[in-house]
Amino acid sequence: MARFEENYEILESDRLGRYLVAKRDLARGELILVERPTVVGPHWDSDVCCLNCFRNSCTICRLCRRAPLCYDCTGHDEAECRFYRESNLDINFLFNHFNVVTSVRCLLLYRTDRDRFWEMRRMEAHLEKRRGSEIWDILSKYVVEPLLQNGAFDRVGDGEGEKLTVNEDLIQHCCGVFDVNAFEIRGNGTSQSVQQNCFVRGLYPRAALMAHDCVPNAFISVDGESNLRVYAAVPIEKGQMVLFNYTRCLFGTFERRAHLRKGKYFLCTCARCEDPTELGTHLCSVRCTNCSAGLCSYYSKVTKWKCDKCPHELTREYVKQVFTNARNDAMARSFEIPELEEAITRHSATLNPRNSLVLELKQTLAGELRNLCLASHPANVPRHLLQRKLELCAELLDVLRVLEPGISRLTAIGLYEYNVSLWNVTRKNFETKEISAKELLDNLIKGESGLKQSISMLLFEHPTTPEGQLTKRAMQDLKELREEIAQVRALVGSNLKPLAEDKPSIID
Ligand SMILES: [Zn+2]
Ligand SMILES: [Zn+2]
Ligand SMILES: [Zn+2]
Ligand SMILES: [Zn+2]
Repeated sequence: MARFEENYEILESDRLGRYLVAKRDLARGELILVERPTVVGPHWDSDVCCLNCFRNSCTICRLCRRAPLCYDCTGHDEAECRFYRESNLDINFLFNHFNVVTSVRCLLLYRTDRDRFWEMRRMEAHLEKRRGSEIWDILSKYVVEPLLQNGAFDRVGDGEGEKLTVNEDLIQHCCGVFDVNAFEIRGNGTSQSVQQNCFVRGLYPRAALMAHDCVPNAFISVDGESNLRVYAAVPIEKGQMVLFNYTRCLFGTFERRAHLRKGKYFLCTCARCEDPTELGTHLCSVRCTNCSAGLCSYYSKVTKWKCDKCPHELTREYVKQVFTNARNDAMARSFEIPELEEAITRHSATLNPRNSLVLELKQTLAGELRNLCLASHPANVPRHLLQRKLELCAELLDVLRVLEPGISRLTAIGLYEYNVSLWNVTRKNFETKEISAKELLDNLIKGESGLKQSISMLLFEHPTTPEGQLTKRAMQDLKELREEIAQVRALVGSNLKPLAEDKPSIID
């Protein structure tokens, strides 16, 4: 993979540690690096699953007689199998202490790939910040103690020179490295079928050097063999940092910062976090109680909620109350469409229609409407519901354009849903003679262009992932849409012939 060295270089600073910088101008969509994982493993609190593919397990490995496997898998990693086979661990050890799996894999690198072991050892685990914390104590109980008390590592390193001393700090380091650096990926191996959403974590030391920004310029895609690819989402100039968003794009600043502080141990001070309006998206803003048009945002320097239209300020107690109300509804959300609509109306009035908590409810609603469209033929879905889905997608795309510019998985999915809805609504409007054939044609062409844009982003997704499946469906839809456009064009052509001079561009 030597040629990727031309794309980036690794720099170091006191504030950021090591980070990636573009070594030359990178075009939108350009592949920056490909990396195979050092270790892939389940989250420490995962349920027992197959050690080979991470789906539900139903049997055990015949060789080591300890590793859980599924119906399809007959074995797992050879070094891991040997480790459990040669250990004196109880036959039910992994069923009682499944939490240890990923740490054991990290430690086994010492046997299988010494360079990668030391690379893992050098990665940031924030041990001192974690020591004595809640997560430290939990990991002590569920990972460290079972391994040390059962003497699991008494034999690692045997016959291969230097013996590895496995102690509490080393095991906590393995856990910390995963918490701080790992990427969430889908687990299933190489099968051609669609990967299920059984999420595991993969350690990629190179990709983990990407610094964080709440408005990233890079995105990742993982294939069926857990190889991770980093691409430029927008053009990245030589010398610019390669930036990835390690938290959720549609979280508001308070939630993003809390998530990053708790999981990654830093306070984000990116442009988006430092702007009270979140780059004008108002994801955290609350409606002013004094004027009708104003939105109040939090100015951390003066610790005040100030209105952008009048001198009014909101009290912290009031803001806390409206946030709590909305958060409770977002968590206890009912999946009935009328209840969701009611909650959206209520919280839009106190927060604002684009507040992240309202957007969360809207995403749930859009999902419900999509399910409805999938469950019955679009022709049977009431037009106002299709129209509503269209509105919700448009709103989400507006926000994403600012917060996840360029190529983005969320944008790709949003564009797909938007344009399919546009197609269905337009067709209904034409059937009821509310629009002319020409307007139908215009909207279909618009839908075609949007669908093409969506596909251009979805093509980065590996075919075995659910997004990869969506790519296939989108391409099939595009084919059908083009056939329909050809038919309508013929219709418009014949109908408009006498008027052809009026609007020649329509049938171009
Ligand atoms: Zn399996
Ligand atoms: Zn085995
Ligand atoms: Zn930030
Ligand atoms: Zn105001």
